[in-house]
Amino acid sequence: MAKKNSGHTCSFCGGPMSADAVVVPSPLEPGVLICSDCVAGISDLLRDVANEKHRRSGSDAVKSMDEVPTPREINDYLNQYVIGQDSAKRYLSVAVYNHYKRLAQKKEDDDVDIEKSNIIIVGPTGTGKTLLAKTIARLLDVPFTIVDATVLTEAGYVGEDIESLLTRLLQVADYDVAKAERGIVFIDEIDKIARKSDNPSITRDVSGEGVQQGLLKLLEGSIVNVPPQGGRKHPEAKMIQVDTKNILFICGGAFDGIERKIANRLNTHVVGYATDSNKQKIKRDNYLSYVAPQDLKSFGLIPEIIGRLPILTHLDPLDRDALLRVLTEPKNAIIKQYQKMFKMDGVELTFDSDALELIVDKAIEYKLGARGLRSIVESIMVDMMYDIPGTDTKKLNITRDYALGQIQKAHFETDIVQ
Ligand code: ADP
Repeated sequence: MAKKNSGHTCSFCGGPMSADAVVVPSPLEPGVLICSDCVAGISDLLRDVANEKHRRSGSDAVKSMDEVPTPREINDYLNQYVIGQDSAKRYLSVAVYNHYKRLAQKKEDDDVDIEKSNIIIVGPTGTGKTLLAKTIARLLDVPFTIVDATVLTEAGYVGEDIESLLTRLLQVADYDVAKAERGIVFIDEIDKIARKSDNPSITRDVSGEGVQQGLLKLLEGSIVNVPPQGGRKHPEAKMIQVDTKNILFICGGAFDGIERKIANRLNTHVVGYATDSNKQKIKRDNYLSYVAPQDLKSFGLIPEIIGRLPILTHLDPLDRDALLRVLTEPKNAIIKQYQKMFKMDGVELTFDSDALELIVDKAIEYKLGARGLRSIVESIMVDMMYDIPGTDTKKLNITRDYALGQIQKAHFETDIVQ
């Protein structure tokens, strides 16, 4: 159906304006109007020009090196939020610092171009990979996004195009392309796109090798056409060109079973696999700290991808002590969060130390790790959070007995343990 004409004409493009169009009149000349299509077109043009200017001037919006936190300062900041994981913190601090250096480098005659060094973190699930990435993002003022490698598929298959992981970065950068081009992308679960065997397949491997090949283009730095809304590319959609040369990629994955490959390489055997869980943890911890690029290859990452992830670091499993610290020490530790909530009701909340130990022991017993701590604390506190508001209670101390009763009431055993 043709749109009803308003009888006005746009003074800019000369086109007729429909009755429901947004019309912007000139504040000076009565009768001079501009239509919303022209306004939108001009706004796109201005954004493109601004982006191009940014791109040409390179580092103009980049901090000078004096303003950039040193690796030691970055590490100190991470320490406030993340328990342990010293080796990964060190690698990340240096990598982020170097990322800034690369952004600040000026075109000089020496032909030396500092190239980026993307990072890969290998570590058991729930030990702080995402937390590290998020904490770094909070410290930096570059756009940052976390994407899950499992949703990516090769073009033509069900799932999201690989380029769509840059859509998220563009979104957090408010579609400022130049800003997005200096960002950091954390790709989680990179191990899930490993090919199933170490041998290159004859038939295409939809979920694995093809995705890795696609990812390679992004990691090594190239101009990529990104769908502004993500998902699948539509032929008619306008693409945004993003240069990934300066985007830092941090990949993380649990790589379940990689310690056996490391052990094989080291020509030893994993001992204590079946019975003694403590022993297994220590062995696993030891083996992961020896992780080398060839282990990633035996796991199923293609050599080209490994070459583009030159910084390889690992996370340690969290033992009882570490879990206890996770519960209470970080700036936004779970216990501190509950204390804050109660404080808002005027209540001072404390925990006996053996109650805290019980929470950790239960998290270990139910094999929930750090992720389980919150749900255990929640089950202990839910009744109090229901009952206390509106009363004149000023202090609340959680004892081990009370905590145990609440945990038993919550049926963790039947709900969670298979
Ligand atoms: P993953 O390694 O699977 O990415 P996460 O970083 O998402 O694990 O950790 C899950 C949760 O466990 C975090 O939100 C955090 O509360 C807690 N956690 C895990 N590891 C640590 C750690 N090293 N220090 C502090 N908290 C941690």
